[in-house]
Order: sequence, then structure tokens, then C-alpha cells
Amino acid sequence: MIIPLLKGLKVTLRYFFSRPITVQYPEEKIPPAKRWRGIQYFEKDERGKTKCVGCGLCMAVCPSQCIYIETAEDEEGKRYPLTYELDASRCIFCGFCEEVCPVNAIFLGKNFEWVEEDRSLYRMTTERLLEEKKLNP
Ligand code: SF4
Ligand code: SF4
Repeated sequence: MIIPLLKGLKVTLRYFFSRPITVQYPEEKIPPAKRWRGIQYFEKDERGKTKCVGCGLCMAVCPSQCIYIETAEDEEGKRYPLTYELDASRCIFCGFCEEVCPVNAIFLGKNFEWVEEDRSLYRMTTERLLEEKKLNP
């Protein structure tokens, strides 16, 4: 009779003195896993613009075909994405776009919070991808 009681008490005491793993969401936010691949963001260059050169490799490699790019050249002959659209509602967060990018312009971030009622609002433009950078310092 006393043995099971002591065993139970031992378990209670072990958890009582162990570090809590509870996260006080939404005040406290941590990525669900160390290698979490969340919402994409664009890295900025020294001028504060996207580092993307519109090469189209991410569009070609994306298995969900959720990236669309139109490329142009600026007055210095530098290529940039005139149109960059990433439909996050179709993305499977495989990370291929990040891996294939030759200039380290696009990354999968740690952010996992994004809820919309209209699927069209999940379409990320260059501005939205640069905005997302703020959540991934
Ligand atoms: S993470 Fe994968 S599915 Fe999502 S945009 Fe990048 S390549 Fe496409
Ligand atoms: S994000 Fe990278 S891979 Fe995609 S078009 Fe821009 S430079 Fe190319």
C-alpha cells in the first residue's frame, strides 16, 4: 500500500522541481522546433532593398509552383524582381527556395503566426517579404 504511494510521490516531486516547459503564449513566443521553417522573408542589401536579382531559380525549383517572378534591370544594369509573388497559402515550407538562392536573398524565417480569412491575402510581394524581415532580426 505504501510503496505505490511513495512511487507516485517520487514522480510528483521530480516534476515539481524540474524546469517548466510551458510557454506563456502569446506573450512568450518561441519557434515550435529548432529547425523550424516558417514564413519567408527577403534579406536586404546595403541600400535597404531586396538582395534578390530575379534569377528565377526559386520559381523553377519550387515544387508547389507558388512563386511568380518578372525581372527587370535598373539604370545601372542591375537585375531586380519587377514582380515577385509568393503564395504562402500553397507553400509547403520545404526550404528549396532558400537553398537554391545564389545571393542569399530569401530565407525561411521563424514566424508561424499568420491568419487570414481570404486566401488571396497570403500572396507575398517584395514589400511584404521585406516587412517580414523585421520579425527575423
Ligand atoms: S518553401 Fe518550398 S514550397 Fe515554399 S516557396 Fe519555397 S520552394 Fe516553394
Ligand atoms: S530569391 Fe534568390 S533564387 Fe529567387 S529569384 Fe531572387 S535571387 Fe533568384
